[in-house]
Amino acid sequence: MDIISMEAKHTSGLYAKQPIAFVRGQGATLWDVDGNAYIDCSSGHGVANLGHANPKVAAAIADQATKLLTLFETFPNDQRALLMEKLTGFTPGLDRVFFCNSGTESVEAAFKFARISTGRIAIIATMRGFHGRTLGALSATWNKKYREYFEPLVPGFSHVPYNNIQALENAVTNETAAVILEVVQGEGGVYPADPEYLQAARRICTERGALLIIDEVQTGFGRTGKFFAYQHYDIVPDILCCAKSLAGGLPMGAVLIGERVKNLVPGAHGSTFGGNPLACAAANAALSVIEEEDLPGQAARKGAYLMEKLKAIQSPEIREVRGMGLMVGIELKQKVAPYLKALQEKHIIALNAGMTVIRLLPPLVITQEQLDQVVAALAEVLGAQA
Ligand SMILES: *Cc1c(COP(=O)(O)O)cnc(C)c1O
Repeated sequence: MDIISMEAKHTSGLYAKQPIAFVRGQGATLWDVDGNAYIDCSSGHGVANLGHANPKVAAAIADQATKLLTLFETFPNDQRALLMEKLTGFTPGLDRVFFCNSGTESVEAAFKFARISTGRIAIIATMRGFHGRTLGALSATWNKKYREYFEPLVPGFSHVPYNNIQALENAVTNETAAVILEVVQGEGGVYPADPEYLQAARRICTERGALLIIDEVQTGFGRTGKFFAYQHYDIVPDILCCAKSLAGGLPMGAVLIGERVKNLVPGAHGSTFGGNPLACAAANAALSVIEEEDLPGQAARKGAYLMEKLKAIQSPEIREVRGMGLMVGIELKQKVAPYLKALQEKHIIALNAGMTVIRLLPPLVITQEQLDQVVAALAEVLGAQA
């Protein structure tokens, strides 16, 4: 079976297909159909924080699959109840939770919660922000390339420059329902928030009766060196969106909900698959692994090591290295596409973030040896002087 040409024949056309067919993974390693090993620095865009084929997650999925796969959330379930307890245990001040199936769904839910809670319409997002591709989430997403052809989008959205306190002061009024922010802008180029900025956002929202929505779809579950990235900043949001790595690789999203969010009544929102016992069992196993293996601590240590090594690369192509934990951006002076291709030829899978940033999102279980291989390959393709 020729995997690549079969996909080429039937693809929607929405994805720029790469010429490698992967069939297996383990930790931070992926194997192609011919058995060649690659180091994965993409984690499926931040899904595989625990690494591929985590045995505890696999066992939990297999076990739950023989018990109960689906159950609408009107009926309580053991795995869901446990997950509600466990997940909210990581987020003091956010004690309620809504389950869905993806990042964009968590953002859609957050916007609906903000509007029903405040009775207001306006939602303020940021330039370079990314929040998903369904029409509501897309309305908060900045990049023209995702938005063109789909406008007009949902009314009531506006964008302000990121990390600019004065712009937020000017934009948020007594008619603002919510402000939505990423703690580290991911797709937008790996830009961490300044501490003063998130703290000001918290204060401004509180003062003006708006809700603060933090989108941790990419930064959650240990990625930045804390369980959630906002926990570096001494703030608590009103609404927290998460997905990607929540269920160890299975599709799942969640919205964590604070006390200022009101009027969430039966029927106001819902999801058929949301909170299904299979995804909840996978998430329960994933959260246990994150705790037992201290993945946030691993991300902090390995991220510091990686950033130090990357900053030491003497290459005329590098403009800046920035990031938080194992979410790292290498901004180049030119387009990154040829460099990503060269890395791929060296069996390293990395991502872009915009045109000029190489983004590294390895599984948090990546080994030191693999990190060294990644740094060496980067130095080589970037033409570094030894
Ligand atoms: C990936 C991502 C989303 C969208 O998640 P999907 O599961 O692809 O819908 C939303 N927000 C952020 C910050 C993301 O990185």
